[in-house]
Amino acid sequence: MHTSRINEATGWLLAFRGSELLLTESGELPEIESLRHFSRWFKQVQRVGDYRGRPCYCAVLATDTPVFPGTCLRHLKKLLDELPQDLGHLAGRALELIEWDHTHRYCGVCGAPTTQRDDAIVRVCTNQMCRREHYPRISPVVIVAVERGPEILLGRSPRFPPGMYSALAGFVDAGESVEAAVHREIHEESGLFVRNLRYFSSQPWPFPHSLMLGFHADYADGDIVVQADELEDVAFFHVDRLPPNLPGPSTIAHWLIRDFCRRQDRRFGPGPELIKSA
Ligand SMILES: [Zn+2]
Repeated sequence: MHTSRINEATGWLLAFRGSELLLTESGELPEIESLRHFSRWFKQVQRVGDYRGRPCYCAVLATDTPVFPGTCLRHLKKLLDELPQDLGHLAGRALELIEWDHTHRYCGVCGAPTTQRDDAIVRVCTNQMCRREHYPRISPVVIVAVERGPEILLGRSPRFPPGMYSALAGFVDAGESVEAAVHREIHEESGLFVRNLRYFSSQPWPFPHSLMLGFHADYADGDIVVQADELEDVAFFHVDRLPPNLPGPSTIAHWLIRDFCRRQDRRFGPGPELIKSA
């Protein structure tokens, strides 16, 4: 869908300037109709799904786009704790599609321009000798809460805010099973061996295109060895003495830690109930 047609569309608009989402001044998702006056600023408009029974579109705002009267721009990562979970997922989908659209303008095989098909989320090479189809890229990441009785293993990246710890995580390698990735990542980041992996839940993480796969695992063997190039600290924390700064309630890291606390009969923080697929 092209910008010219935004003037005919009705429904919701998820417009991003970088990773900042356009909202009304009161923090609501804007309706397209309310933004007609600014339609020339919206690029790469495409349908991303439905929200509250109405179509929902995404669009890109150039980095020099001004803040329109009656609106504000908020970074999606900071908004996820506040948005309804279904809207957070849709906004994440929109951000991933925008990023994919932006990075797949040209065919990676032959270099010819690509075009997006109207009936599917796929960009197709325009070179008739090639016609390679390019789908959105999704990068699986394992995130693991390792437990040892009433203790949970948490690590701290130098990139984290002061005092923050989280569950250990890492990308799945090419040709690697998710289970092998769990064992490898935990051993690389902590020096420990784990057993009894239990799949917990997943979360799309659109910064830029990760799919977080959450596991619980039990400590099996080994002593903690911190890999200083990745993490600055890794330690077991007793359920009654968790670090003061943990990931926010919209993150799968929070859900993993909260689930551990509940099984230890401890209360821990607010957060939405998980949307679990059947
Ligand atoms: Zn091609």
